[in-house]
Amino acid sequence: RTAIVLFTRDLRVHDNPALAAACSSAERVVPLFVLDPHLHALSPNRARFLHESLADLGKALRRLGGDLVIREGDPVAETIKIAREVEAEGIAVAQDVSNYARRRERRLAEECEHHRMSLRLFPGTTVVSPGEVSPGGGGGHYRVFSPYYRAWESAKWRDEAPAPTRIALPEQIMVGRLPELPAGESPHALVGGETEGKRRLRTWLRHIGPYDDLHDDLAADGTSRLSAYLRFGCLSPLTVANVARAEDGAGPAAFVRQLGWRDFYYQVTYAFPKMSTEAYRTAGDGDWRPDPDALQHWKDGLTGVPVVDAGMRQLQAEGYMHNRARLITAAFLTKHLGLDWRDGVKWFFRWLNDGDVANNSGNWQWVAGTGNDTKPYRRFNPIRQAERFDPDGVYVRRYVPELKAISGKAVHQPWRLPDTVRASLDYPAPLESHRDEAVWLRP
Ligand code: FAD
Repeated sequence: RTAIVLFTRDLRVHDNPALAAACSSAERVVPLFVLDPHLHALSPNRARFLHESLADLGKALRRLGGDLVIREGDPVAETIKIAREVEAEGIAVAQDVSNYARRRERRLAEECEHHRMSLRLFPGTTVVSPGEVSPGGGGGHYRVFSPYYRAWESAKWRDEAPAPTRIALPEQIMVGRLPELPAGESPHALVGGETEGKRRLRTWLRHIGPYDDLHDDLAADGTSRLSAYLRFGCLSPLTVANVARAEDGAGPAAFVRQLGWRDFYYQVTYAFPKMSTEAYRTAGDGDWRPDPDALQHWKDGLTGVPVVDAGMRQLQAEGYMHNRARLITAAFLTKHLGLDWRDGVKWFFRWLNDGDVANNSGNWQWVAGTGNDTKPYRRFNPIRQAERFDPDGVYVRRYVPELKAISGKAVHQPWRLPDTVRASLDYPAPLESHRDEAVWLRP
């Protein structure tokens, strides 16, 4: 008996329910990944991270006697083609929430039915599967985080799946090769793969203690940086949540809560799959201004507001941005410049190694006031945010070298410096906000 495991965003052998089930139910298993050139052209950074993760997964599977079978093209057509070649009885795949993934699942289901094969969907991309907890237990999804989190935390989490001990490929299968490693765009991006993800998780557990105090400190870099490994499933979110939950203290508890946020947006996106293009709450979907010039300044990190520019430049340099900076830069685009959150979604999605539909769009809509924030009209004053979360200006100077010579918190408002100093800086004056109340930018 032969089974196919179609890997998607579960690029690991530990706690992989689809892989574990295939290995326990079939004598021969085809671990398959289909590169969809259309999808993977969206972000050179993620294409690279994906490639590194696949190479690492291939190694892990070879150690178990198997291999990673690679094909290129339409994932459904290629999967069915292989399934027919090896006369597979069934296909196992991890369930996912985006429009793209749901369409793939539907098409696979139709094809499987047509060819009399079974399609089995497995959990594994979240700690708690979308729909597993619901308000009042009556179906539907949670719109507000706190009640979701209470239900999420007290739900019975599934048992982790055992890692397979041996994988036997069907004899006739051609393994296929990964194309050359894509270049990526960010010089300081993290390296993908389960091996690297596990190493980072081990290191993180030694630093998780002060997370509660440090996670908002822009310069401290006191967060896990595990997001891209979770995004590609190099790490199981359940394993990460379990090991953090086993630690005592406010740090681990605050960290587990963030994993709850991740699942929260997955269940919202599962219920509202158009999250990346349509407002979840249309009432907040204000009259966004078209202003390509301001948008370009924001993208380039040349708004003249140092903390905003620092975040935007970190994004390009690392394919990553600190969460506090994501909040500040997103609020600046939408609430101060009055530009459409969809432009922000697209730009972040191009660069972020952890970029995914649920978390990127969910968080953008939260900031823009069209999503799940219970205070959609809240404002972030970037100067106050900068002074609070980067009190000495260390983060700004790290990413905006033009301001290196300005010491302390004065770096947050270069327009207040004496004219002679300001004239010597190769740094722009702040972009005009379209909002009257934005007096914080006036010299
Ligand atoms: P940690 O602080 O160590 O948190 C641990 C994990 O919890 C993260 O790896 C992540 O999986 C999850 N998490 C943390 N904060 C959030 C949150 N606010 N929402 C959902 N999950 C969270 N996260 C993404 O994974 N992908 C995205 O595309 C993404 N886009 C964002 C866009 C905007 C505008 C904003 C404000 C936030 C976005 N986030 C996104 C959430 C958050 O910024 C990142 O998850 C976090 O910065 C990743 O760094 P870390 O792994 O060190 O996080």
